[in-house]
Amino acid sequence: MGAVKYRTANRSGIVIRRRVLPSGDIIVTLLTPQGKLKAIARGGVRGPLASRLNLFHHVGVQTYQTPQSDLATVRQAVLEGALPTLAEPERHPFAHLMAEFADALFQEGEFSEQAFDLFAAALRGVARQSDPEWVALVMSYKLLGLAGIVPQTARCARCGAPDPEYPDPVGGQMLCAACASLPVYPPQSLDFLRGVVRRTVRANMDAPVPLSERPALWRALERFVTVQVGGVHSWRQLVPSELEPAGAAG
Ligand SMILES: [Zn+2]
Repeated sequence: MGAVKYRTANRSGIVIRRRVLPSGDIIVTLLTPQGKLKAIARGGVRGPLASRLNLFHHVGVQTYQTPQSDLATVRQAVLEGALPTLAEPERHPFAHLMAEFADALFQEGEFSEQAFDLFAAALRGVARQSDPEWVALVMSYKLLGLAGIVPQTARCARCGAPDPEYPDPVGGQMLCAACASLPVYPPQSLDFLRGVVRRTVRANMDAPVPLSERPALWRALERFVTVQVGGVHSWRQLVPSELEPAGAAG
């Protein structure tokens, strides 16, 4: 055979998806400042790359790609950072949710340094803050804002009447009293939904909505993302259930 042309690349990013094939190869998706990158680590499960390419690890990878294959191959991986507390049961579901969310929201090759920075900050927050659920809610809305997919809060999603205050069970936006079928949002939830995208992360973090109001916010986010983005598979398991009494873990 003649000389095969390899394209090699060095990238640094966070593992947001990891799938082990029956062959033992691992397919990973990284979120990097240059966009999303999908690559295969051949024989990965048995190789030294396996433990480095774990979910939520920040890794530097060297990949190569032949003209015949559409998937880059990981040649080397170096661990650049890990957040071990993300393995804790009260944090892991939120980290997983953020990773699924980023995967659905951002396209391969789409350049977004800001998205990477925001996602990395979200993971750090989920790893370190005392209220990882609140971090995940705030950062999910901030990521939506960055992607330019923002729920409408100024007008009823059904009839267009101004200043809606009720949940929209179909589209995850907001409805006026005349169109509503669910109870009105409490004041703090209303304030959050109207301001979260515009406010800074810090301002949002400083004004957490009470635990009892969060299931409705998660439901709205889940509906909105399902309708507008799609492709987020694990919401059903990950979004906290309202049936779980607040404080039951204590
Ligand atoms: Zn209406």
